[in-house]
Order: sequence, then structure tokens, then C-alpha cells
Amino acid sequence: MPKKFDNEVVLKGIPAAPGIAMGHAFLLDQQDFIVSDRMVLPEEVLIEIARFEEAVLKTKAEIQGVKDKIMAKVGGSDAQIFDAHLLVLEDCMLIDEVKKRIRSEQCGAECAFSQVLNRYIAIFDKIEDEYIKERSSDVSDVGRRVLKHLMGESRLHDFETLLGEIIIVAHDISPSDAVTMYSKRILSFLTDVGGRTAHTAIIAKSLGVPAVLGLNDATLRISNQDYLIVDGRKGVVIIHPTEETKRLYLKEQTKIAQYEGSILNTRDVPAETQDGRRVGLMANFEIHGEIPGVKKYGAEGIGLYRTEFFYMNRLDLPTEEEQYAAYRKIAEEMNPNQVIIRTLDLGGDKFLSSIQLPKEMTPFLGSRAIRLCLEEPEIFRTQLRAILRATAHGNVALMYPMIAGPGELRAANEILKGVKDRLREKGVAFNERMPVGVMIEVPAAAMTADLLAKEADFFSIGTNDLIQYTLAVDRTNEKMAQFYEPGHPAVLRLIRRTINAAHDAGIKVSVCGEMASDQTLAMVLMGLGVDSFSMSPSSIPQIKRAVRSIKFADIEEFAKEALRLSTGQEVEEYMNNALKKVAPDFYSYEAKL
Ligand code: PEP
Ligand code: MG
Repeated sequence: MPKKFDNEVVLKGIPAAPGIAMGHAFLLDQQDFIVSDRMVLPEEVLIEIARFEEAVLKTKAEIQGVKDKIMAKVGGSDAQIFDAHLLVLEDCMLIDEVKKRIRSEQCGAECAFSQVLNRYIAIFDKIEDEYIKERSSDVSDVGRRVLKHLMGESRLHDFETLLGEIIIVAHDISPSDAVTMYSKRILSFLTDVGGRTAHTAIIAKSLGVPAVLGLNDATLRISNQDYLIVDGRKGVVIIHPTEETKRLYLKEQTKIAQYEGSILNTRDVPAETQDGRRVGLMANFEIHGEIPGVKKYGAEGIGLYRTEFFYMNRLDLPTEEEQYAAYRKIAEEMNPNQVIIRTLDLGGDKFLSSIQLPKEMTPFLGSRAIRLCLEEPEIFRTQLRAILRATAHGNVALMYPMIAGPGELRAANEILKGVKDRLREKGVAFNERMPVGVMIEVPAAAMTADLLAKEADFFSIGTNDLIQYTLAVDRTNEKMAQFYEPGHPAVLRLIRRTINAAHDAGIKVSVCGEMASDQTLAMVLMGLGVDSFSMSPSSIPQIKRAVRSIKFADIEEFAKEALRLSTGQEVEEYMNNALKKVAPDFYSYEAKL
């Protein structure tokens, strides 16, 4: 019999990916001890013991480091907890038992360690003594650290073994972890931290699962197996919903499915306003396996291929051949439509196990994207070669992320030229005229857009980062969400400046940040003159519907007015009212729900 709860609990977070999910919670952070059984050969036993000793040493050093930092900051009493943690690692009984088990059972170190650890925790949990209970949580904390050292990146593959349809609840999910959730069995995910344009949210959208981030204390309020309803559109999570609430949400789910079905029939009609202005609607692409979605929703090409996800969840770098095969496949699938491949954008909130980057105080301002590629030209060249070779099989363009000005663009183009020269010498086929674009995501790029436009074939405005860097608001920090204002006058002015510079130079400009999939803000962008949008494929029908319901002449006027306003909130309110006046059906979907 399922447990009955009288009171449902409602949590509010940041809506990160739309949709409704219902199912049981799976707390990721508490599952760290799920370790698969791994047998080893007799001659490997000593290696496993050495791995275990090394993991213990590393954990000790790690804890000591944290302790020293806390001591320096706030003094001794707060650092005492770490003494307790260090004591766990000096417990000879525990350490010896693990080694004995590795020998007697011939199992992997992580397997032996987690068995011993779980036995300890179970014993502590049975004892009704506060002091002992605290020791149990010390053992858990330390155990998690040791396992992390033992299992390294392989922990990431735990997702593959998750059972049943579950809602993942975690303190945080890294973009690389999120990628591994490309599985139908995951219904949704919820995190304590993270903002709307964090890459984790972006991956949730491309997985097509609802997500609510920035819930603050979801991992404390939700227990494993709790029944949950997630409303990704409103950023709401309901724990132990009543039967009545479940019924309401089931109805809502049906309505959403009907609405989605109804707008899908616009798949083959152009995104054209009532007075004949067309805008291109392309797809953002992160994970292989998304191609059916790209086609289903009628994308006119790939406007942003985030290649870094191809590099994730592996211990080595993808070779030129692997990359070439992947780029070629998508180029062929989409032909004659264009595929814009963005060169590697690592750093910020995206890291790889295969590239060891020094820890930086402010990674978003550090060695990220094109900077990293210029520092590691061999990694860059390999990718450029693969992209160039793929141009022989479809309509492929390339763009550089995070360009801050013409100097970086020239440096990147210089490397590209060298790669082209080599391929030509070897007689390898590629498109000599492959368009090369620049992403405008740093205020410096927008301010130098006139100069960049002379040397680029197209612009793509990455509003996720442009907003972050213009307003000095960390895009992943849920506590700063109120300051993350896409309609802020500074952002709109930089966008207008970029569009004008592009058009003066006769090149096209697209927007590929999340702002493009917000139907109100997309109308501002279109009114400012944007030529195309790129977004998660499932957002395309909604934006197409919006475009087809208005006149360009109207939104051009609205955009001019929006530019005169003082805050992002004023812009959104003004646009809402103005759009409703000229197209009463503009928000009809929301109104019906
Ligand atoms: C952007 O910054 O808007 C963008 C599209 O790039 P990413 O979200 O991958 O940083
Ligand atoms: Mg970006």
C-alpha cells in the first residue's frame, strides 16, 4: 500500500524546461553508494589495494585543505567537524576490513569499500545515541568523498543503470551528467541550484523533459520515492499531491498534448508574418539522437551545433575521424539545409575530464571557448579539420564562440587558414567558401560589431552569455535570477547595434540564445530586424505560431517603443499588452490553461 499524505507540499523554483511530469523521486546525491559489483583477477588484487590507499590519501589531503581554509576564515570550532572526518579515515578497523575484503572476495576497491561502509552506517543507524548518529553522517560524507576518488568519472555512468521512470532530484547536475540522461526513463529533473540559461537547463529542453532548477532545498524536502508532480512551465513541484491535484494535472497534460498536436500541423508552412516578412527558424543541437525532433518540429536547419557535448563523458578527446563522421552525418541528414557548427565552447560551466584545466576563481571570465582553443591549437585544429571535411557533404558553416573583438577573430581565422592550406596540399575535399560566423555574446563584440562585420560572414547573437556579461549576472546562479533581464535596455541596445552593424555590412544576423524561444521577447528581436532564430526544436512551433499571428509593421513599431523603456520588466509588460491588442490570440494557449 502506498503511504498516504494529507498535505501536499508545493515548492517553487526556476522554470527551466516546459512540460508536466508525474512520478517518483530519485535522489541522486544519496545514491552515490550504488556501486556495481566488479570482480578482479588475483593478480589485480594488489593494484586495487593500492588504488584504495591512494583514494584514502587523496581524501585526507582534500579534507585537510578544506579544514585549513575554514580555520583561516572562521577559526577552530567550525573546523572541528573535519577532525571527525579525518578520524574516520584513520580508523584502522575500517581500512583493514576493506583491504581484507578486496583480497578475500577479489572485488574492485570501490565495491569492497562501499560494502564495508554501508555495514558501518547500518550499525550506527540502529544505535539511539545522538553522538553515534553524528558519526554515521561523518562516515557517509567521508565515504562519498573516497568513492568519488575511486570511481572518478565512471560515476557518471550510474545514470545508465537507473531503473524505472524516475524524477531525478539533485543538489546540482553538471551539463555532462545531464547529457547522460538521454534516456526515456527519466521523466524530469529538479535541482537546488542553477538558472534558466545554465547549460543543464538547456540540455533538459533538448531532452524534452520538464525541469525546475534553483529550488534551493529540494534535496532536503524531497525523500527518495516521494510521489511528485513537476510543472516545468511554472517552475512548480508538488510533493505528495492529493488525488484532486493529480486529476487536475492529468487534464493539463492532455491539454498540452492536444495543443502540441495542433501546432505541429504548421510544420511545413513558413514562419512568415501576416504582411509577408519571413524569419528563419533553426534548431539548436546538442546531443546525437535529436535529429528526429529537429525534423518533427520543422527546423529549417541547425543554427547552433554545441559541439562540446560531443566531447563529454569520455576520458579521451574525440579523434578527427570520430568528429568528421558525426559532423558529416548531420550535414547529410540536414542537406540542403544549413548546419552551423560552433567550435568548442568549454569552460564556464562546462568541463571535460579529458582536458585538465586549472581551477579558476571565475571560470566564466577565464579560459573559455575561443580563448581555450587559441591556447590549445592542436585540439582546435583537429576540430577544424573535421568540420572542413564535413563541408564536402552538405551545407556546413562554422562559427566561433565568445569572440571579444577582431583580434581574436583574426587569430582564429589564421589557424583556420593553416588547416585549409594543409588539407588542400593533401588533396582533401572541402568547401573553400565555407561561411565563417562570429557569435556575439560579449559586450565587447557587440560594441565592435561594425569592425567584426567586415571580417565575418554572419553573426549569431548568443543572448544567454550576452545578458550574463552585460549585466554582470552569473547565468547559473539562481539567486541572481531576478537580475537576469533579457529586456534590459543595455541588452536591447547592444542587440540593436549588432543588427544594424551586420545589415550595414550586408551580412545576416541570427539569435541563438534562449531569448529566441520566448514568444514575447522573440517579437522584440524580430522587430529589431533579426533575420533568423535558432532554438531548442520543441520551441519552434510556438514561435512560428507567434510570428504568423502578427504583422511585421506592428512589431517594428513595438520594438522601437521597447527601446525607449527603462527596465526589462517594463519592456515585457509593454510587449504583452501591445501584442494582445493587435493579435488577441497571441497568448491564447496560456489563457486556456
Ligand atoms: C548563448 O550564450 O546564448 C549561446 C547560445 O551559447 P551557450 O548557451 O552554449 O553558451
Ligand atoms: Mg554562449
